[in-house]
Order: sequence, then structure tokens, then C-alpha cells
Amino acid sequence: MRSLATRSPTAPAKPPAPPARPQAAGAGNQAMLRRSPVLRRDTQQQQPQQQQQPQGGTGGRAKSPTPAGPCSLNCTDPAFTALDAAAREAKLAADCPQGLTPTQPGRFFGQPIPAASSAKLRSKLLEAQARAMKAMCLAGQDPTAYQLDRAITTYASHSPGEDKAVDIDVQGQPYIAHEHSSDPDKESGERATDKETGPVFQRIAYWGLYRKSVIPKGITTVTKPPKSGATDRNWTDPETGTPNTPTTTGALYDKLKQESDAMQSYFALLNKTDKELASEIFAFNAVNTDGSVDLAKLEIPTDQTDASVQAFRKRIATDYLILGGSKAQLKDFAGDTNAGLAKAPASHAGDRPFQGGALAGATTKGGQPLAAANRRPELGFISLPKEVVVALTEVGLVWGAIDFSGESGDVMHFDCRNVPGC
Ligand SMILES: [Zn+2]
Repeated sequence: MRSLATRSPTAPAKPPAPPARPQAAGAGNQAMLRRSPVLRRDTQQQQPQQQQQPQGGTGGRAKSPTPAGPCSLNCTDPAFTALDAAAREAKLAADCPQGLTPTQPGRFFGQPIPAASSAKLRSKLLEAQARAMKAMCLAGQDPTAYQLDRAITTYASHSPGEDKAVDIDVQGQPYIAHEHSSDPDKESGERATDKETGPVFQRIAYWGLYRKSVIPKGITTVTKPPKSGATDRNWTDPETGTPNTPTTTGALYDKLKQESDAMQSYFALLNKTDKELASEIFAFNAVNTDGSVDLAKLEIPTDQTDASVQAFRKRIATDYLILGGSKAQLKDFAGDTNAGLAKAPASHAGDRPFQGGALAGATTKGGQPLAAANRRPELGFISLPKEVVVALTEVGLVWGAIDFSGESGDVMHFDCRNVPGC
């Protein structure tokens, strides 16, 4: 998505674990450490990945009417997963020379490709699907298990063309920063919003990951080096500040997915008791050894007094609104007390990243799940698995989250501007 007001989480991909917090301090603190961020991280990884359920009729496992070819390989078979990487690849090639068969051929993980999409874009999406399924199989996963339960869309003014771009899961993968508008009012509103959301992304990244967020600046520095592989990129990693550092689309996905997961854990703090929140603060500080980081500036408490706990709770609740969650969503998610603490930010033209979402479990009048219920700060901002995002960039598509230079942050968006003949 780009330029118009649109904007939706979930994936099996595991980001590399952030540096483990050392076990700290004396035996009397065991109860507190039980609430440590290490546990938080485990909890977040076990959060129910929203079950992928194809919408509408087929049930998602319908047998293809035109099978692409027999492929009897069971990718989860222990005999297969016990093989080394090269042997797995060889067995897959031998057993499935035509590639793995998608559950619904012609669709992208079960979702229709927009009718307006060019033949080239359509073929690239299907090629990416085949690559992602292969990557899943080689990793010992059932490649037909993942089904996209969010729509793939485009629209007339879509850049670089209605036929050349798709938005995947508009609601669950919002435009998180740097959205551009040709309307000067909206443009200045978007810039004002970025100024407010930047510190929130930084707080979440440091609280959950002990590092800087890549969102306010890092993703805007990404370039594609000439004559490089499809997934190669250069960027300025905010941790080092060194320009033109080589990276990959997969590594950048990992950074963003970590921050999306950290966002889930951060807002989940609201549903902890004051005592539990105090323990979280204690654990954070017990293992925060980087004295150069200004916690006061980040508005992360350095002690767990009642006053600090309340101030932090208010900070988190207010951040929910700054990111564009609504007061009604906050109340629904975290209750009246937390919602009452939140201070509404000034309103700007344009829209905040999560603006336009609905309450958890909201349905249409007909009782169908409302896609907008996937747009909530507590769900984070990335729903596609790593294999899928990497495959989409392997086939030459650009990802709006990282490939829009100064306007990067469009997580939902993929397009074929750099693909000849698209
Ligand atoms: Zn788009």
C-alpha cells in the first residue's frame, strides 16, 4: 500500500534470539526473575499464531483438480529431516521434479491473486510461492500447512501501477512509518506522527531487545547494490552507524519481526498486575548492563517503586494510542483502568500506523470475521512468515517495508517495478 489511507500478524519464522539476559542476582530474587524478559520472550514466541484458515468455501485442503505432478515426499518425516541440508535438497529434487504442489494451484497460499495483476506479477507471485514451499519443506515443515487467511489486494492509484503491485494483509501489516502523501496537509501530519511514533518504536526495541529500533531510520537507508543477488541489500545498521553495511532481505525481516514480537510483549505488560509489572522492571534493569543508554530519555523506569510502575503503565497505555490503536480497542484489550490512564495524542492529518482497526473478534453484520480486527497494536505489524517474504524478494519483487528508501515502512506492499516486462 502506498499513498492512500490503507494499511494488518503471524508467522512460524523464528527471529534470531536477542542476547540472552544473564541470570542475575541473589536467590531472594528468584520470584522476580521468574518474570524475567527471557520468559517474556518465550511467552511471545508461544503466542498463538493466528490459525491460518482460508476464508470461504473450500476448507483450504481441497484436492487440486489438476495436480502439478505426483510428489509423495513427506517433508516432516524424521527420515527426511535427519538428512543434512544437501541430502534433503537432493531428495526433494529427485522425489518432486515438478516442485511441490500448492493446495490451490493458481492462488497464492490459498488466496486469489487480484484480477488486475499483470501476467508477470502473477507468475512472480506463484514462483515465490513455489520457492517458499521448498524452503519450508527443506526446513522440515509441511509446505501445505501455511495458508494465507488475509486478502491480497490492489487499487487504481496503486504505485507503480494497479497491475504491478499487491498489498498482502492490509490490516495486519500496516504502513508503520514514513508514509508519503501528495496532499501537503496529510504529508505534514504523517511527518508529525513519525516524530511521535519514533520514540515508541525505540522504547519497545530497547525494552524487549536491548537494541535500537530499525524503524525510525534504519529501514530508510536500505539500498540494492548493483549486480548483487536478488536478496542482497546494503544499509546503515543503527547499532553501528556504518553506512553501506551488507545485509539481506531475510536479515532485515528478522529485525522487523523481532520488533513486531517485542511490540506484542510490550503491550501485554498492560495485562499484568502492578506486582508483576514491578518484577518485569526489576528483571529488565538487573540485566541491563549498557550504561550508555539513557533510560530516562527512553522513559523506561530504573526502579520498581509504585510511582515508577504507575508511570510506566501510563506510558504504555499512551503509546498504544500514539501508534493508532483506539481507546475502545485499548479498553477492550486491557480494561477500563489502563484505558483511563492513556493520554490521547494530538490529532494530525493522515493516519497513524494502526488507525482504522476494530475490536478483537469483531464481525460483519453477516457474522464474518472483520479483517480490521487484525489491526491492533498488541498483535504487532508482521503476519507473513519469513520464508514467504524472502521468496517474494528472491523473485525480484520489492518489499515496501525496506525497499522504499525514505518512504520505507509499507509492510503490506510488494511490487514488480524492477522486474523486466512487468
Ligand atoms: Zn501497496
